Amino acid sequence: MSSIGGNTSDRYWRQLNQQQFDKDRDDVVARAQEAGVTTMVLTGTDLESSPEAAELAARYPGFAYSTAGVHPHDAKTVEDLTLPSIRALAQLPQVVAIGECGLDFNRDFSPRSQQEAVFEAHLTLAAELNMPVFLHCRDAHERFMAILSPWLDKIPAAVLHCFTGTEEELKVCLDAGLYIGITGWVCDERRGEALRDIVPLIPDDKLMIETDAPYLLPRDLKPKPKSRRNEPCYLPHIANEIAQLREQDVEQLIAQSTDNSRRFFGV
Ligand SMILES: [Zn+2]
Repeated sequence: MSSIGGNTSDRYWRQLNQQQFDKDRDDVVARAQEAGVTTMVLTGTDLESSPEAAELAARYPGFAYSTAGVHPHDAKTVEDLTLPSIRALAQLPQVVAIGECGLDFNRDFSPRSQQEAVFEAHLTLAAELNMPVFLHCRDAHERFMAILSPWLDKIPAAVLHCFTGTEEELKVCLDAGLYIGITGWVCDERRGEALRDIVPLIPDDKLMIETDAPYLLPRDLKPKPKSRRNEPCYLPHIANEIAQLREQDVEQLIAQSTDNSRRFFGV
């Protein structure tokens, strides 16, 4: 894709703190910056990765930020629903959102009742601290919205990351005022077909772009990378695909989604 280096681009991505990046973190960051990525948000997904993400973000001040939360897969590890360690992390200047949190009834790695209690605990904390939330929902749309809705007027902003739901679900989310995060899932003509159809329905001011790295390597990269590991430097590729689907100028889309991310995270 053509270079978009230099301009302010949307550019948040996650999990640079994952073990997959232990050996070459600085290279990954350099490649991202070369590709035009101007800001990253590293996702904390449990009680171990959240402090790691905050620590890593502190090494790239003004460029990297992080979130603090417990993914529904790991809800079973939460013993104290006041979330003391997440609460402490949220005080750090580089920690800009509560999450990842939400519901995943696709894998059911944690009992649903525990997922729901831990999700609600995150929302309680976000409302108390007046921080935005970074949300995950898979195969749990109705319960997810039922739990989330009463909190939305007490929380400054909410993004449903890696959206892969239906058109109907998208409409409900948009009506509730959620931001929508789109990943390289959209680059998959087969698996991402339904998503490709509805991406144009997201209003300009609610769209965010993400890689979900190290997961969800875009399937249509040419040449095919040797590693299956996704990286933030592929974000422009995802932006390009989304721009085509929305019949928008890619630079305009990048400027808009960057703006959305900055407003959302306050960075
Ligand atoms: Zn997720």
